[in-house]
Amino acid sequence: MAILLTGGAGFIGSHTAVCLMQAGYDVVLADNFSNSSPKVVGRIAEITGKTPVCVEADVCDKEAVRNIFRAHDISAVVHFAGLKAVGESVQKPLEYYRNNLDSALTVLEVMREFGCRQFVFSSSATVYGDQPAPLNESAPTGGCSNPYGWTKFMIEKILIDAARADETLSVVLLRYFNPIGAHESGRIGEDPQGIPNNLMPYITQVASGRREKLTVFGNDYPTPDGTGVRDYIHVCDLAEGHRCALEYAAAHTGCEVFNLGTGHGYSVLDMVHTFTRVNGVDVPYVIGPRRAGDLATVYAACDKAKEVLGWQAQRDLEAMCRDSWNWQKKNPMGYDA
Ligand code: NAD
Ligand code: UDP
Repeated sequence: MAILLTGGAGFIGSHTAVCLMQAGYDVVLADNFSNSSPKVVGRIAEITGKTPVCVEADVCDKEAVRNIFRAHDISAVVHFAGLKAVGESVQKPLEYYRNNLDSALTVLEVMREFGCRQFVFSSSATVYGDQPAPLNESAPTGGCSNPYGWTKFMIEKILIDAARADETLSVVLLRYFNPIGAHESGRIGEDPQGIPNNLMPYITQVASGRREKLTVFGNDYPTPDGTGVRDYIHVCDLAEGHRCALEYAAAHTGCEVFNLGTGHGYSVLDMVHTFTRVNGVDVPYVIGPRRAGDLATVYAACDKAKEVLGWQAQRDLEAMCRDSWNWQKKNPMGYDA
């Protein structure tokens, strides 16, 4: 029996692959490498001592997904595959709706054909839209500010309806907050293509001299220092959350949703200052205007994951900053150096 990780060569998928392999699971990665490198497979093997099965496939291609199920005994799927750049989704909404919705529907239909009943989905805190923190799972969803967020909202809705219609199906929706950090070995990490959209990869690239300075998007928010507040979570803690979600899915049917965050909010300037202090490197920055669509404060209530999954983030902000920098230093140009 194996766990299929669609998008398994990506940032969160690769860390989850390591976590699951080290917990004794067999995994099959399926990725079209649209936003990742095949080199990640060798790096996972270095860390775990075992090479994971990796299939190059577009999971919108039903026959390709069927072939994976024919070749492997898949007991559960973690569906990471998707396009994730918020700004790009505004420019290319059709590509985002097509890829994200189609991949989820295709995998679900093939799972039904093969009698595979456990599905864990990579959702996002973005489905909450603009609501007061801390956000808990019963807060209303919708009101997303971009097509990317709406794809997550729509896939959640599809999964809720699918689980309602079929009592043998088990679905876990994981709403991630802001994943950062990297495996402590520095062998796998986040490898954004082009100019990073997210804060931590931008900070690490400034620290390494690859970019001149960070622009802080606004210092006039109603937050303690005026800069945006987010709930950053170490990607290895997030990976562990998937292991717990798979255990839960194996034991329950129906659809459950869990926030995966730390429950703590840190501002942009907290991030810059902690990164500088922990790593002893400067991160030059300037204050710029707000970025369209950004919210002031987003952080999670994490009680449900603790109570039901027995999961809680273990790594603090210093570990996140240290491991992000360790990855950047060892891989200044990402996997393609
Ligand atoms: P990522 O881009 O590193 O990983 C996604 C992977 O999916 C990539 O390797 C990409 O090549 C692959 N992929 C995309 N479309 C595919 C397709 N049709 N067929 C096969 N492979 C395909 O992103 P990530 O940060 O690891 O995110 C994983 C999931 O978590 C995504 O669904 C993302 O939307 C979601 N998520 C990420 C964050 C974050 O900040 N990183 C936050 C919330 C939710
Ligand atoms: N941010 C910033 N400069 C950057 C990138 C991000 O000031 O170059 C801020 C952004 O406004 C937000 C926080 O950092 O307050 C986290 O942004 P990110 O894009 O990483 O996550 P998201 O906004 O999706 O939560």
